Amino acid sequence: MISHSSLKKVRYVFRTVLYLKYKEEQRIFSKKIDKINKDDLISYDDKKKMINNLISQEENLNLIKRFYPISCILCGTRMEDLIFLLDFSGYFCDDCSKMLRKSKSENFKSLNSLC
Ligand SMILES: [Zn+2]
Repeated sequence: MISHSSLKKVRYVFRTVLYLKYKEEQRIFSKKIDKINKDDLISYDDKKKMINNLISQEENLNLIKRFYPISCILCGTRMEDLIFLLDFSGYFCDDCSKMLRKSKSENFKSLNSLC
């Protein structure tokens, strides 16, 4: 039988592999954008289109990462259990999810006191 701590370590390794792949993809986007920016043979309008296309692809990548339990969106931990919070559209560790829920509750109370 696999212990909870062993499962946590295995999960951490898988998350780290996915996280490193994500970071690598981000670096590739940055390099492509730099290369386009430095290319004097590309017109301004074409650069703008190409860069906007890359930015759009990078935003999709960020959105995909947000909906998979790779790391806590706030603190970045990959070791702790992650919870999907529908209200915040992403995965968070226990500490961050508690803080967000508390913050949301306090904001709700302060908004209600204004009414
Ligand atoms: Zn966190």
